[in-house]
Amino acid sequence: MRDSMDSVRTTCPYCGVGCGVLAERQAPDGEWSVRGDPDHPANLGRLCSKGAALAETLDLPQRLIEPTLRGADGTLETTDWESALERVATGFRETIAEHGPDSVAFYVSGQLLTEDYYLANKLMKGYIGAANIDTNSRLCMSSAVAAYKRAFGSDTVPVSYRDLEQADLVVLIGSNTAWAHPVVFQRLIAAKEARPEMRFVVIDPRRTATCDIADLHLPIAPGTDILLLNGLLAHLADRGRIDRSFVEAHVEGFDATVEAARHDSQDIENIAQRCGLPVDDIQRFYDWFTATERSVSLWSQGLNQSASGTDKGNAVINLHLATGRIGKPGMGPFSITGQPNAMGGREVGGLANQLAAHQDFTPADIDRVGRFWQAPNMATEPGLKAVDLFEAMRDGRIKAVWIMATNPAFSLPDSTTVREALDACPLVVLSECHGGTDTAGFADVLLPANTWGERDGTVTNSERCISRQRAFLDAPGQARPDWWIVSQVARRIDPSWATAFDFPDSASVFREYARQTAFENAGSRDLDLAGLAELSRDDYQALAPTRWPVQAGRDGERETIDLFADGRFFTDDRRARMIPVDNRGAASALTPAFPLRLNTGRLRDQWHGMTRTGPVPRLNTHRGEPTVSVHPFDAARYRLRGGQIARIGNAQGEILARVSLDDEQRRGSLFVPMHWSHLTASRSGVNNVIASDTDPVSGQPEFKTQAVWAEPYAAHWYGWALVCEGATRPPALAGWPGDYRVVIQGAGLQRLELAGIDAPADWIAWAQTELAPPADTARQWIEFADPKGGQYRVACLAEGRLQSVLFVSRRSRRPDIGWLTDLFSHAPLSDQDQADLLAGKPATPGEDRGPIVCACFDVGQNTLIDAIDTQQITDARQLGECTQAGTNCGSCIPELKQLIARRLTETSN
Ligand code: SF4
Repeated sequence: MRDSMDSVRTTCPYCGVGCGVLAERQAPDGEWSVRGDPDHPANLGRLCSKGAALAETLDLPQRLIEPTLRGADGTLETTDWESALERVATGFRETIAEHGPDSVAFYVSGQLLTEDYYLANKLMKGYIGAANIDTNSRLCMSSAVAAYKRAFGSDTVPVSYRDLEQADLVVLIGSNTAWAHPVVFQRLIAAKEARPEMRFVVIDPRRTATCDIADLHLPIAPGTDILLLNGLLAHLADRGRIDRSFVEAHVEGFDATVEAARHDSQDIENIAQRCGLPVDDIQRFYDWFTATERSVSLWSQGLNQSASGTDKGNAVINLHLATGRIGKPGMGPFSITGQPNAMGGREVGGLANQLAAHQDFTPADIDRVGRFWQAPNMATEPGLKAVDLFEAMRDGRIKAVWIMATNPAFSLPDSTTVREALDACPLVVLSECHGGTDTAGFADVLLPANTWGERDGTVTNSERCISRQRAFLDAPGQARPDWWIVSQVARRIDPSWATAFDFPDSASVFREYARQTAFENAGSRDLDLAGLAELSRDDYQALAPTRWPVQAGRDGERETIDLFADGRFFTDDRRARMIPVDNRGAASALTPAFPLRLNTGRLRDQWHGMTRTGPVPRLNTHRGEPTVSVHPFDAARYRLRGGQIARIGNAQGEILARVSLDDEQRRGSLFVPMHWSHLTASRSGVNNVIASDTDPVSGQPEFKTQAVWAEPYAAHWYGWALVCEGATRPPALAGWPGDYRVVIQGAGLQRLELAGIDAPADWIAWAQTELAPPADTARQWIEFADPKGGQYRVACLAEGRLQSVLFVSRRSRRPDIGWLTDLFSHAPLSDQDQADLLAGKPATPGEDRGPIVCACFDVGQNTLIDAIDTQQITDARQLGECTQAGTNCGSCIPELKQLIARRLTETSN
C-alpha cells in the first residue's frame, strides 16, 4: 500500500522467497530507492544483493514500449494497440477455426502475477477449449507439484519459513540456498546463531556456499539421491523409528514403500559405494535424522530438475510420512520454488495438466470449473507440457503460440530444437517488457507489457504467502498489464466472450479467482481463499501478506487453517500416500565419449537471462563471465587450464566457457551457470548442451546431470576491450571478432572478453574502423603491434580522454582491469598513462583488489585476504567491520567465511 506519497510496499520480482520491498523516494520527482520491508513475514527487512539493487533496474535497456508487428520481409514496425490486438485475435481465431483448439498454445511464466496467469488460463482452458497452456515453472518445480499431489492428493506445501527456524535438523537437498534463496539462508544463519545446537546437513555433489552452514556435507554422486533417501527410510524402519500410530491412522502404502526402499538400498556399505560417500557420514546423517523429531527437508532444483524428479520428491515426503513429521511446528518436506510467482501459477492452473484453483482433469472438476466460468468450450483433457508443446510446434501441430514474460529460446533444454520450433510456427506472439530477448527474434507480434514497478497484482511465495506487488511507476510508452492484454485479445477472438473478460482492474480479477477457490469447496480442496473473495478495491490495495488457506469467518473475519495438523489430507479417503520409488540414476549415460556430468544452476547476483540484473554494474562484479567449474583433477585429465576457454559438448551441441579451477567441485562433474544468453555472450548458452530428457510424471526436464565431453578450445588469441559508453559506437556483440565473446556491463563502460582462432588481418585497422568515435571528434590513437608475438594494444582518445582500449595477446592472462578502468577517468591522459598503455601495464602497479566478493561495497578478494592476514581476522563480522564486506545485504557472508577458513588453514600449515 502507499504509505505516503513516496513509500510503496511491494515484493521482489526475483526468487520464490518473495521478500517484501519498500520502494521510496525523498521528493516527488526524486530517484526511487529500495530497502527490505521490515514488516513482511518472508524477509523481515532483509534483501539479498539482487533485491538490494532493484532501484538500479528501473530503466531497463531495450525496453519494449510499443506494439510491434513483423512484416512479410521480416522487418519490425510499431503499430497501435488496436491493430496489434486484432492481429493476435484474428490469428488465433482463424487457426482455431481451421485446425481446432488444440492447434494453439500459450507458454507463460512464473514472472506473471496471479491475475495475469488466471485470465490466461481461463481464456485457454475455458473459452478456447484446449489445455495447451504451460509455464516456465514446468522447468523449476513441476516435479515437486507432482510429488505433493501423489502423496497428499493436493499440491500443498506444508512448511513455512518459521518451521525452518524452529527445526532442530534442516536437511538441504539439491539446493544452493545461499545463492538461489539468499534471504532464507540468512534466516537459517540467524536461527543457528540463536540456537547453535541446530544441525544442518547439505546433500549436494558440489561444495557450495550453502555448505558454510553445514554440520555435515554429503557430496553425493549425481543421480543417486533416491538411493540415499531410500536407505534412510529402511534405516528408520529397521531401528523401529516409524510413527506407527500416525501411519496407521493417516497413511497408505507404507509396507510396499519400505519394501521397495529396502530392495533398492540394500546395506549402508552398498549405499556408500554407489553414492560415492563415506559410510561414517551416511551413518551420521541417518542417526541424526532418526533421532531428531523436528526435522525439515528442504529441496529445490537439484532434485526437481531430473528425469526422476517426482520420485525424488516422494522419496523425501515418504520419510516425513513414515515418521509423522508433518503438519507440526518445525517439521515437514519443503520444496522451495525458484520464481517469484511459481506458486501463484500452480494455484490458478497455469500448468497444462491442472485446472484452476488446484483442481484436476476429473469429470467433477471439469464440470465445476466449467460452471464457475460459464465456459462455452471447457477443456476436458490435459494439454501439452513445455517440452512436448515445443515439439508439437516443431512438427506443425501447434500453429499459433502466445508467449508471455518468458524466453523459451534461451531457457528450455535443447535450445537448437526450440529455435527450430519457433521458426516453424506460423504465428508467434510475445508479450514482454524486453524487446531484445532470444525469443523476440522469432516473434511476429510483440506486445509491450508492464514490468516490476509498474505491475499491480498479487504473487504467492514458497510458503503459500500471498503478497501484493504494487505499482509505483507509470508504465512507459504503450506498455500495459498482461491481464489487460489477455482480456482484450479474448473479447476480440469472440465478442460473445466480452462479459467473461470484462475486468476494470486487477482487484476484480483477483476477486473472481478467490471466489473460484471457494466455489463448492467446503473443505474438499486445500486452496481456499473464501476470506479474500469479497475484497473491496481498497481492501485489495491494502492487503497485507496472507498465508492461505484463508476462510471466511463468522463475523467477516478471515480465518487461517494449519493444513495437515489433523493428519487429514486431500485424497479421496483423506489418507496420505507413501510412494514406492527406486533409484533410476541420470537420464544420460556416461560413456567414454561423454565422460563428465554437467550440472547447471544459478549464480549469487544474477537472475535468469540477465535482462534485469545484467545491466547493473555492481551485480556483474561477482561473476562476470560464463565459467565452467572444474576440479583440478579433471582439469589435468582433460587438459583444461584455469583462465583458458573450454569447449563442452555432446550430441545436442557445444558451448564455450572460461575454465575456473575449483577443488570444491566433485570429480567427474562440471558446473556451468545458466545465465548467459545471446544478449551477453556468443556461444555460452548452457541449454544448447542439455537434452530434452523429462520426468515421465511431471514433464520436468533434467538440467543437472547431462553427460558431456570437455576439451580445451584452441584459442590462437585472447582479447580484452573496454569501451566508454556513449563516446564511441562499438559493434554489437556479434560484430566483435572471435568465437568466445562476452559483454559485461560496468559503470559507464562495457567490458568485452574475447577469444578466437581466426582474427582480423590487421587488428589496428579493425579497431580504428570499429571503435572510432564520431568523425567530428579530435581523435588520437595509441598503438602497439608485435605481429610475431601476437600482441596488439590499441587505445582511442578523443580530446585527450580515453574512449576505448583493446588488448590482444596469445596468452589468456588478462591485464589489470582495475588499472585500465581507472584510466577512463583521467582527463586528459598523462604522458605516463599513455606510456603505460603502450607497455600494457602500469609502471607503478596500484592495488589489485582481485575478484570482487562483496558487490555492495566493491570489495575484492585480495583486499579481504590482506585484511585477514594483517588484522588476524577470524570471523566474518570482524572482516565486515574492517572492510565493509558483507555489511549490507549479507549475500557474500558465506564466501567471506570460506575465505577466512581457507586463509587460516593456509597460514597454519
Ligand atoms: S531472496 Fe533476494 S531475490 Fe529472492 S525475493 Fe528476496 S531479495 Fe528477491
